[in-house]
Amino acid sequence: MFASVLIANRGEIACRIARTARKLGLRSIAVYSDADAGALHTRLCDEAYRLGPAPARESYLAIDKLVELARRAGAQCIHPGYGFLSENAEFAEACAAAGIVFVGPSPGAIRAMGLKGQAKKLMEHAGVPVVPGYHGERQETKFLAQKAEEVGYPVLIKAVAGGGGRGMRRVEEPAEFEAALQSAIREAQSAFGNGQVLIEKYIASPRHVEIQVFGDRHGSAMHLFERDCSLQRRHQKVIEEAPAPGMTPEVRAAMGKAAVEAAKAVGYVGAGTVEFIVDGSRGLRRDAFWFMEMNTRLQVEHPVTEAITGLDLVEWQFRVAAGEKLPSLDVAMAGHAVEARVYAEDPERGFLPSTGRIIALEFPARDGIRVDAGVEQGTQVTPFYDPLIAKVIAHGATRREALEALASALDRTLVAGPRTNLAFLAALCRAEDFRKAQFDTGFIDRNLAALGAVPKEPDRAAAAKGVAELLAREAKRIAAHARSASEEAASPWNSLDGFQLCGARAVWVPVSINGAPASASASYGPQGISVSIDGIAAAPDALAFEAENAVYVLRHGRQTLVRIKDFEAIDVDHLDTGGLVAAPMHGKVLAILVRPGASVSKGQRLAVIEAMKMEHALIAPFDGTVGEISATPGGQVAEGAKVMTIEAKKPEPV
Ligand code: ADP
Ligand code: ADP
Ligand code: MG
Repeated sequence: MFASVLIANRGEIACRIARTARKLGLRSIAVYSDADAGALHTRLCDEAYRLGPAPARESYLAIDKLVELARRAGAQCIHPGYGFLSENAEFAEACAAAGIVFVGPSPGAIRAMGLKGQAKKLMEHAGVPVVPGYHGERQETKFLAQKAEEVGYPVLIKAVAGGGGRGMRRVEEPAEFEAALQSAIREAQSAFGNGQVLIEKYIASPRHVEIQVFGDRHGSAMHLFERDCSLQRRHQKVIEEAPAPGMTPEVRAAMGKAAVEAAKAVGYVGAGTVEFIVDGSRGLRRDAFWFMEMNTRLQVEHPVTEAITGLDLVEWQFRVAAGEKLPSLDVAMAGHAVEARVYAEDPERGFLPSTGRIIALEFPARDGIRVDAGVEQGTQVTPFYDPLIAKVIAHGATRREALEALASALDRTLVAGPRTNLAFLAALCRAEDFRKAQFDTGFIDRNLAALGAVPKEPDRAAAAKGVAELLAREAKRIAAHARSASEEAASPWNSLDGFQLCGARAVWVPVSINGAPASASASYGPQGISVSIDGIAAAPDALAFEAENAVYVLRHGRQTLVRIKDFEAIDVDHLDTGGLVAAPMHGKVLAILVRPGASVSKGQRLAVIEAMKMEHALIAPFDGTVGEISATPGGQVAEGAKVMTIEAKKPEPV
């Protein structure tokens, strides 16, 4: 076994790897960017070294810096985690060249599986069923349109270099093909520097079922059962579970065999995942699953496999990388496990990533619940990286039990500061059809409203509670002030709470709720302060956390931000922006879709901004004409920065 490891990652996965490194007695070496100085992962490791500035390109993706640091720190191996350089063959090569073991497969295996088209060809040769479609070299529009016809609509256009659901377009009919192709190529080119695409049959009632595989340096490969990752949004996993609902021993054996063959075809070493798409319309069947891609790394959702097998997959990764043989034991499976990805994002605003300092954080500690977090109270969630902040995993005897345990664990998880998808995740766990295992990859999109992922009225009961907390704090301050001012002369002020001076009369307090102005009515009676907003009284079950002149109120998994007399705060959602189109967050301008003077209609896409690995379209607030454009494609914009202005259409003369 190695004596030391450098963990070339951040966040929850760096923390996760550090835990196993410690268990195995490895000296763990963390790296961090300026945005992560002092972050949890740097403190969980034995040593930590600065990589560079916040942008990933200059830190977590800087191969030379990483290898140099590893060499200087005397790391025997480098664990890449997932994301970042985990599937980068050059990085694996650079490690080898420096005499450091890369914890993962060979550069050759990474390359063989790196491009989806090539990987599919390889799988066809290995006898693994692949999704019907075209994955050749020719890329002319006419030719691809012809192939799409042959494959049969609906089809999926995919970037061969794609990942994270990017560069993918579903096309319903021939008339839409060309436009979809152009936009897929554009996105692929900008995200991966490779505009090549393939065409696939869009599988009906698709379910994503993947097989965890492991290979060793001695030619063995095996699988550790499946995971169902069909609950997705924008082709990205949200909830994953193991085993897959409706899986039979026969289908599992067939999929497992295909996955092991896929691994063997590339001489795979270490942990990998073979992803299949399944036609779920008639249940899981031996003849209705097709290879999509292989991820040559540890997967985000590996904990559900660990839960049902009792294994530590990171330990296996280290052992295999150190040259040990895969254990020849028969791995058994017990119970059911479900994982939810907790993201700093706002489901009520189109899942816009949310940044800011974590004011309060609490995870439930109970049997059967595992929390893999990468943040702690005080952590600043920045726009530089993925918004995943934690994973909550439940393990139960049955699927129903696991889902119930997960839902209640999510209810008990508190995150104040950035907005999160906690309420949305809990609603998903409780969705009736999902509970009955009637779902496919379109489930979330079809049920957004039922899952609460739509703009909603602010929670006035929670806001009122927040106002009450702020006023109570103010009352204490006044009382303390009064006491200290009258310390010498024993004074009747001593026994008084500042607000009792007001009697039971109600006063109006100007407040802002999530940035929008409102008015709270506060009265001070013998029981203290009671507050209501629009006649709605403060909710006793809301939890309030004060920070930075505001109160973050959590109730039913939603966060309400309350300030008193704060009308200056910029909130692009609620302020009358007077035609200002501003960046909702710090990010990179991918495209400006209009020109000065162009006339636009309400809702039209004006520009695209990328932040936290996602694209966000800025849309016209009303019909009008484009005024000044202040941002340029490729440039960075700060949160709230002006991108352009729209001048309202003058009313037509009558
Ligand atoms: P995919 O598996 O969908 O191709 P990636 O390999 O980019 O996508 O990453 C898998 C998932 O891991 C993403 O959905 C993202 O949420 C998350 N992720 C990737 N890198 C990191 C990281 N360094 N820190 C936290 N989360 C990450
Ligand atoms: P990525 O590298 O972005 O993870 P994948 O090829 O794994 O790309 O596809 C991502 C997701 O898109 C899958 O999990 C699945 O939900 C959906 N998908 C991919 N291919 C198909 C298909 N042929 N039919 C239906 N859905 C698909
Ligand atoms: Mg995938």
